[in-house]
Amino acid sequence: MKKLQVFAHHERPFATMLKERFATEGIVCLVRNDELSTALGEIPFVECYPELWVVDDEVYPRARLLLEQWLAEAAEPTAKWRCPNCGERIEGQFQSCWKCGGENPD
Ligand SMILES: [Zn+2]
Repeated sequence: MKKLQVFAHHERPFATMLKERFATEGIVCLVRNDELSTALGEIPFVECYPELWVVDDEVYPRARLLLEQWLAEAAEPTAKWRCPNCGERIEGQFQSCWKCGGENPD
């Protein structure tokens, strides 16, 4: 087993989501230090940051690449879009056109 990534407490759902996403890629992962093991008193609270582990060392390099790709995707800003009414270029975080109020067609 190899440790892939350590997450902050509030990122626990994200760690679980990644584990499930790896499963769809055929990569078996574990989230260690989850709430269950904390409840069982296995580890002190201060050490219970969720960790994502790859079970099979052989697939670790591939898992590493996938993870980096997914993290980059998550950090990317939303793409710009063009208003269908007036043709204005709008930043991805806005859902309607600042010029004419047209809605983002996507
Ligand atoms: Zn417009």
